[in-house]
Amino acid sequence: MYAMVLPARGAPLTFQERPDPIPGPGEVRIRVSACGVCRTDLHVVDGELPDIPYPIIPGHEVVGRIDALGDGISDLQQGMRVGVPWLGFTCGECFYCRSDRENLCDRPKFTGYTRDGGFASHLVADARYCFPLGERGDDTALSPLLCAGLIGWRSLMMAGEGNALGIYGFGAAGHIVAQVARAQGRLVYAFTRRGDEEAQQLALSLGADWAGASEDTPPAELDAAIIYAPVGPLVPLALRAVRKGGRVACAGIHMSDIPSLPYHILWGERQIVSVANLTRKDGIDFFKAVVTANIRTHTTVFPLDEANEALARLREGKLVGAAVLRP
Ligand SMILES: [Zn+2]
Ligand SMILES: [Zn+2]
Repeated sequence: MYAMVLPARGAPLTFQERPDPIPGPGEVRIRVSACGVCRTDLHVVDGELPDIPYPIIPGHEVVGRIDALGDGISDLQQGMRVGVPWLGFTCGECFYCRSDRENLCDRPKFTGYTRDGGFASHLVADARYCFPLGERGDDTALSPLLCAGLIGWRSLMMAGEGNALGIYGFGAAGHIVAQVARAQGRLVYAFTRRGDEEAQQLALSLGADWAGASEDTPPAELDAAIIYAPVGPLVPLALRAVRKGGRVACAGIHMSDIPSLPYHILWGERQIVSVANLTRKDGIDFFKAVVTANIRTHTTVFPLDEANEALARLREGKLVGAAVLRP
């Protein structure tokens, strides 16, 4: 197998060949055909997440086909197309696992962060955390759904039932969630960096009712807002835009500091919540919703060995939609 490996904190990824990995009991080996690039990969590369076991292969929006089965696998077969998400393992025993909140597990493993991920020709995954994807849709278009889509879905659930939804940061997750929200009949207001005409045009072309800069006042009060950009100052901006009783969901795993804010913009039973990881049930519900919402993903494809270039483009905000690596 070959992979783009992160050797140390802040170092560029390096191309490496390795012996093919052997799946253990309960695991499968997947031949990767596409792996999306997520903002969390940048946080891993930059060492902004704790306890990274270097060297590590990033990537957690993996689409591929099973090419080897470990012992004890009954519901997955050779050749089956599957997706591998961020959540790669949970303990099944802790307080959170036992109360249907495996996304908060105390002893989790994460694909491309604490176990090797999909910036590679092959990876080994725990079979319980692979989603069968069926044969509809192409691998590249599906890959951003494995994180941007799934976390987007969970954040949409966390934002509540409100009709008028603000989306702050219109990248990989935002452009997927906007389509799901529109398919649910909600109004979508897209907020981008000032002057990012391309992202605003994309939002409008995907059915957003309004697009503008994050500092702008939207034409109507929001029932809820979801923040995908890792930018703390967006929190008070979003709070000012939501109505009484409204909710601001912060969907990123990492965010710059939230500035101090006057209490009156939180008053009125407004809420700030964070969204962490996903559950397997989220995956099942989401892929059902994808079928009915007919999601289109916008992708820019890079060969696997240009992973550093893809990360740089994401860092600079120079991507429309999602970057996808193909081995
Ligand atoms: Zn647990
Ligand atoms: Zn991600």
